Parts: sequence; structure tokens; C-alpha cells
Amino acid sequence: MPVLPRPRKRLGQHFLIDPNIVRKILKIAALRPEDVVFEIGPGRGALTHALCERVARVIAVEIDGLLVEYLAQTCAQPDALELHHGDALAFPYDTLPAGTVVIANLPYYVSTPLVFRLLEDRDRIDRMVLMLQREVAERMIAAPGSRDYGLLSVVTQYLTKPRKAFVVPASCFRPVPRVDSAVVCLSGRTTRPSGDVRFDEVFMQVVRGAFAHRRKTLINSCREEGWEDPVIRRALEATNIDPRRRAETLTVSEFIALAHAVRVFS
Ligand code: SAM
Repeated sequence: MPVLPRPRKRLGQHFLIDPNIVRKILKIAALRPEDVVFEIGPGRGALTHALCERVARVIAVEIDGLLVEYLAQTCAQPDALELHHGDALAFPYDTLPAGTVVIANLPYYVSTPLVFRLLEDRDRIDRMVLMLQREVAERMIAAPGSRDYGLLSVVTQYLTKPRKAFVVPASCFRPVPRVDSAVVCLSGRTTRPSGDVRFDEVFMQVVRGAFAHRRKTLINSCREEGWEDPVIRRALEATNIDPRRRAETLTVSEFIALAHAVRVFS
């Protein structure tokens, strides 16, 4: 039997030990045998083994070489598992087959950049079932005006329909993390104007500009981010958005309208 590598905390290695959570994640993912699954950080295989039993192809990327070796030696369905050794942030997402289902218990230290990376390549992904810190999950689903509402909420809700599925207590992992986790399901695109990549770029610039200086008004935050005053003024006027408002009060639809207007006046 291969030796089980010791957990490395700096790589966010908190392994899932509760089979009930695995079952609940699989239920939410509603996999069909023909689905292709992409897993980030398979670790010791808590999810991977169950996934390989359900679908014919699981593509997994793991940064820890010792765990890659361990998994390759312990996987009961090696034909189903395509294991990559590397950083998921650098993975070539454009090589995933269209309609891929992403399932992952994300490493805490890099979960937000990974979510942004996955959202960027949303076009190849059908749905995602992600386990992350509860606080990050709350930010993804937060409503305008709430404490948690920010860049992550707007981008997630612009590109997907996020739903918090359930909370996972810290006791379900070894080593036990300091915070609870939650599983979120990101499915079906909602308001994204289909295929307009250039619009998405403007949208992202506007949202990043607006949230760059959270305590400032919309207009001052955008100015500080280098937007020309006349452009942002005319865009706010055209969309009937008060320039004294702060970014965290704008709905996703208002951000979309603002980005359209910025594009027109730029
Ligand atoms: N999926 C396993 C489970 O549920 O028990 C492990 C989850 S653990 C929270 C996160 C895993 O992601 C670890 O195996 C860790 O080595 C791996 N990891 C950390 N950073 C990574 C990165 N940048 N790219 C790919 N994998 C990473």
C-alpha cells in the first residue's frame, strides 16, 4: 500500500473525511455517465474516487507531486482519471471539452483567484459545484447593499446563477480548518449578453473601477481608476445612476447598463 503523504497546510490541504458530504455533492452535481468532470485539487481522492465511479472521464489537476503519485497508485478506475500535476491557476482551460462539469473542494489560500479564473472560462463549463470557505460562498450570493456584496458577487451573478447549497462544518475535514465551509452551485448564465467578449471586458473594467475604492462614491472611485471624467459622468447621467452612490448599492443590472453607456461614450 502506498504511503499516505502528510498534509501540507500551506497548500490548503484540509481533506474531506465525511462520506455524507461526498454523497451530497454528487447529488447536487447530478452527473450523467457521459459528463466530463474537471476537479481542482483531488488531494487524497475523497471526491475523485466517487467521481471516477460515475463518469467515464475525470480531468484533475493537483499541485502536490506526492499526492499525484499517491492518487495514481490508489485509483481503482485509472482509465477514467486524467491526472495533471500543476497549478490550477495555470491550467489551459480552453482545452476542456465544452459542457465540462467542475467539482472541487478548493484550497482556501487561493479559492477566490481560482473562482475568478473559472468564471473567466465560463464558456466551456456547464455548471460548477464548489466547496469553499463559508465567507467566500456568502460573498458570491450576496445581495446589493449587504456587507458581503462586492466584486466577487457582481461577477459571479453576472456570469452564473449562484446558489448556496449547504454548510459543511469544519469537523468534516482533517486537519480541521479554523472556519466552516459551504458548497455553492453555479449554473446557467443569466444576464450575460451572449458571446460579446468586448462587452465583458468593459463590464469588468467598470465593476473593478467602481469597487476599487469601496469607501468612495462611484464617480470618485472610477476617476481614481483612470476613467475620464466626461465619460463616466455622461454614462451615469444616461443610466440615471446618482454619481454619489457607492458601488455596493448598484444591482448587477445597473452595472450592465452602466457598462453599455460607458462603451457608447468612450
Ligand atoms: N479534494 C480533496 C478533498 O476534498 O479531500 C482535497 C481538497 S484540499 C481542500 C485542496 C487540494 O488542492 C489539496 O490537495 C492541495 O494540494 C490542492 N491544491 C492547492 N493549491 C492548488 C493549486 N494551485 N492547483 C491545484 N491544486 C492545488
